[in-house]
Amino acid sequence: MSKTIAINAGSSSLKWQLYEMPEETVIAKGLIERIGLPESVSTVSFAGDKQVVTKAIHNHTEAVSILMNDLKALKIIEHFSEITGTGHRVVAGGELFNSSVLITDEVAKQIEELSDLAPLHNPANVSGIHAFRALLPNATHVAVFDTAFHSTMPPVAFRYPVPNAYYDQYAVRKYGAHGTSHMYVAQKAADYLGKPLDDLKLITAHIGNGGSLTAIAGGKSIDTSMGFTPLAGIMMGTRTGELDASIIPYIMAKTGITDVSEVIDIFNKKSGLAGISELSSDMRDIIKSRDAGDEKAALAFDMFVDRIQKYIGQYLAVLNGADAIVFTAGIGENSFEVRKAIIDGLSWFGLDIDDSKNVVGADGIISTPNAKVKVLVIPTDEELVITRDVEKFK
Ligand code: ADP
Repeated sequence: MSKTIAINAGSSSLKWQLYEMPEETVIAKGLIERIGLPESVSTVSFAGDKQVVTKAIHNHTEAVSILMNDLKALKIIEHFSEITGTGHRVVAGGELFNSSVLITDEVAKQIEELSDLAPLHNPANVSGIHAFRALLPNATHVAVFDTAFHSTMPPVAFRYPVPNAYYDQYAVRKYGAHGTSHMYVAQKAADYLGKPLDDLKLITAHIGNGGSLTAIAGGKSIDTSMGFTPLAGIMMGTRTGELDASIIPYIMAKTGITDVSEVIDIFNKKSGLAGISELSSDMRDIIKSRDAGDEKAALAFDMFVDRIQKYIGQYLAVLNGADAIVFTAGIGENSFEVRKAIIDGLSWFGLDIDDSKNVVGADGIISTPNAKVKVLVIPTDEELVITRDVEKFK
């Protein structure tokens, strides 16, 4: 028996999914939240059962050790050695990594050194990596980068119009994010459309709490909305997305904030849907309040849709037309209201949604038969992509 675990370590969380391979069967999955806070919560779901434990978990190393011991205690595994592979989602791979790699001491160090590009994520990813390597010394450990799929972007898309030295000396450029998700749903879309991915022009919209859109030609990312860091692009749950950089010194001068990182923190954590609605970063709350007549929630919803429509417009231009638009992630998969609001405003481009297909639980093509550009909903599965990549190194 060979098991592989896919790990997604966030700044205060650790999401995992355990697979039986090569069958690709999910045996158990779980989430450890609020790591570093007094009441951390660890949830393990397996065989129709669920265990929820609340206790203090101080760091990611402790989280991994608790998770592994839970797997044994719940008899999901008998010995640690049954887990022969671990796959780690790493947010920033910089220009160093354009595909998944076997983790060595050197690779772990390089991922740590790339922390400037994802200060909340890469250090957490590295902690997870160290903890699993220590507990499973004989397993195959693989890093799967969120940025790798975007390494095919041409300079015209990835460069910023700033002095060359910033790129040459400091690698200031667009790196993108959600690469495994964009890649996975693009392939699935090709299956649904019954055409080779190589022949398709697609716009994939990964819209969750964080979100990004990608222009894909022939299976390759040629432009994406996230930038140097995950702050760029569309409006998000708590992030601004695109913004005029001059706002930063202006806000500092007006408010008396002297530390620029404080402003960036506000742009990352207190903006987006949360900043405009002053209610919530969660799209379900926004829609509920908007429907109850809340004007700020209505504005937040409309701005959110507007930014996505503008990126679709950009990418229709970049690709010179597209075969399909694919919606995925929390909002993209679940909110027919958001999908409808986006597509209804783009009828001139040959986009037309079929309301009877654009429903809760939609999976597959939701456009009308005559729509020039097809619209699809495809649930993403980043964990499966990660797990498949681990198998390639076993
Ligand atoms: P993350 O970027 O954290 O992985 P997810 O992809 O899980 O985020 O997406 C979370 C978002 O999905 C939240 O804003 C949540 O409100 C939204 N969402 C989930 N289900 C629905 C739904 N039925 N209707 C609208 N939004 C939903």
